[in-house]
Amino acid sequence: MNIPTSRQAAQVSEEHVLNGLHDATPFSLQDLIAVPQQWLFEHWVQPAIFQLGWGQGIEAAFDATEWFVWGLYEVAFMVLVLGTLERWRPLEALSDPGAVRVDQVFTLLHRLGLFPLLAFAVLVPAIDAIEAALRMHSISRPNPDQWLPEIGHTALLSWLVYLIVFDFVDYWIHRLQHRLRWWWELHAVHHSQRQMTYWSDQRNHLLDDLLRDVLIALTALLIGAAPSQFVAFVVFSRVLQSLQHANIRIGFGHGLDRVLVSPHFHRVHHAVGLGHEGRQQGCNFGVLFPWWDMLFGTARWDRGYFPTGIADQVQGRNYGQGFWALHWKALLRVAGREPPVGAALPAESSAR
Ligand SMILES: [Zn+2]
Ligand SMILES: [Zn+2]
Repeated sequence: MNIPTSRQAAQVSEEHVLNGLHDATPFSLQDLIAVPQQWLFEHWVQPAIFQLGWGQGIEAAFDATEWFVWGLYEVAFMVLVLGTLERWRPLEALSDPGAVRVDQVFTLLHRLGLFPLLAFAVLVPAIDAIEAALRMHSISRPNPDQWLPEIGHTALLSWLVYLIVFDFVDYWIHRLQHRLRWWWELHAVHHSQRQMTYWSDQRNHLLDDLLRDVLIALTALLIGAAPSQFVAFVVFSRVLQSLQHANIRIGFGHGLDRVLVSPHFHRVHHAVGLGHEGRQQGCNFGVLFPWWDMLFGTARWDRGYFPTGIADQVQGRNYGQGFWALHWKALLRVAGREPPVGAALPAESSAR
């Protein structure tokens, strides 16, 4: 899906390298992505793709390599910046390092493996196919820049408009994750973490992740977001969400916490007895902005410290500890084979 950006980035990179030989053109910010992307692609990805006989997917593989490079930067930022903040001002003492390790597995697998793979195998080919079909029927993609010409002239303002649209969709996806029983059973994997850290954002059932990623990519297609705008949204969103889950005693202050979702605001969403109960089946669903919660009456601004987890975990319900146990138990719950604490299995209750 980010083929144009990647190609442009690669061209820019090649031009810079060539120019650099003559007039020592300084390294641009874009090169921070384009140069490692080009190197990894040439030395590792391209040979592997041809070895596997997947030559037709070469362009999608180039884009997937860009996602891998972004993932590397994100993980580096998390470890260096968020890790330092957690050591400096931790909110709670962590008693179970094993519980954090499984979130590290989720994050590394997603950022460096599964998301680039999803882009390669599903998102890029699907969106290319949809775009080709639209072209064949002479249907042009919507272009909000044309509807809002005064916004289209400023790249940053235009991106902010897309950001708000994506976040609005994300808010409603999150509401449904709590509202629909089968989706909640998948999303409960995310909420079952009782030792929340900056690694916890990516603790999601693979099916839950796949659904959300596909819905957001379709939104990008529907609203005609440029590939570079989509990449910027995904990276910004992932970095901010890692910060929101961090185990840090740092507030955004009254004012900024009404503009961006803060770690405290999101901790209330994860709070035992608060985050997934009540008429709305939770509160503070916002992903980047708390505005949708304020608008639709789901915002809570409680102060204080909140332990995280799902209420019935306190009564002894086991959502699984390891990577595969968390996935398997979620599927059992969807199928009704993991009843709530104290309830009988369907087979047992019908036998009575
Ligand atoms: Zn949630
Ligand atoms: Zn969360």
